[in-house]
Amino acid sequence: MASSTVIETLADLVRINSVNSSYEGGTGEREIATSIRRYFERQGIEVWEQDVFPGAGRPNIIARLPGRDPTRRIILEAHTDTVGVQGMTIPPFEPRIAEGKLFGRGACDTKAGLAAMMHAVATLHDEGIVPPCEVWLAAVVDEEFSYRGVVKLCEGLTGHAALIAEPTGMRAVIASKGVVRWRIRVRGKAAHSGKPHLGINAINHMARIILAIEEDHQRLSAREHPLLGPATCNVGVILGGVQVNVVPAECVIEVDRRLLPGEKTETVLADYQGMLDGLKVLHPTLDAVMEAPMLTDEALATPADAAPAQLASAVLNEMGLDGGLCGVPFSSDASKLSRQGIPSIVIGPGSIDRAHAAVEYVELDQVEKAVEFFRQFILRFR
Ligand SMILES: [Zn+2]
Repeated sequence: MASSTVIETLADLVRINSVNSSYEGGTGEREIATSIRRYFERQGIEVWEQDVFPGAGRPNIIARLPGRDPTRRIILEAHTDTVGVQGMTIPPFEPRIAEGKLFGRGACDTKAGLAAMMHAVATLHDEGIVPPCEVWLAAVVDEEFSYRGVVKLCEGLTGHAALIAEPTGMRAVIASKGVVRWRIRVRGKAAHSGKPHLGINAINHMARIILAIEEDHQRLSAREHPLLGPATCNVGVILGGVQVNVVPAECVIEVDRRLLPGEKTETVLADYQGMLDGLKVLHPTLDAVMEAPMLTDEALATPADAAPAQLASAVLNEMGLDGGLCGVPFSSDASKLSRQGIPSIVIGPGSIDRAHAAVEYVELDQVEKAVEFFRQFILRFR
């Protein structure tokens, strides 16, 4: 049976360092995966590991609750990794409860949502309830770095609704922006700065590109998505030049473009390539190349009239919470489950403003409400 409270389970999860292995001091998800597997084993709930990084010991954990209709499935999904702890001003792995909050790394992002999902499943099982649809609880690795956990989960996966735990303040999120990040590299020609006409100044040419990107950004802001606002573009890194008396032979920028639903990565990148081609016509010595993207993720856009969205909204309203469907500016595992054809909602306790923060916490009453929300959703989705 579910012998501990959801807050005790949350504290147990926070106590385990599960910083993503790709970050400084990251020990990975092995220990937390084992802890979650044992939790379900103790309840007598079917549970198994799904290998994600062969040999690295970073598995997804999947628990399964049979449903009355074996052909229909709900996916409850939460990531087990966290970001690093640099800059934190509280002990990251010593969960402390004060003022109705639990403090620690991962408290809101997203161990609170995970603990609430675990308790929803465990209590239903404990009460002998067989829900209308089969339920999978998937605790997946690597959301905070490269989404490898959810990508593995999605292989061959079918489902009729997915709830993805992220700190949304228990609002039901149906839309989020996508992202593409890539480098633009300008090659010039080095020369003595006393005779700059003998060289090609890569920084000067990059300045033209940055201004063109900024003008394009103004154009982007003219079109607004009702839940997400406009697409955006930010040049976040610039590197160029070796010393002040040398004409710089190279300059590199890193660009972060946030995508609206409907925007395709290939089309967006082709637009920027077109921009570079136009500049090359005006400035024949401008030699710029776009590198393959470092990261791409499509937007999430679950229709507001999709059955899971309607049910999530109704349950929240009945609980006295805000049932309005909304959008958020951060990406999550949801876009991958959505691309798999599973209508996906992002919802969980806590605020995204407290995620990745120096002081991370989650409000305990929201964690309790999340358990009730997940239970109601499982009981009523058919
Ligand atoms: Zn998260």
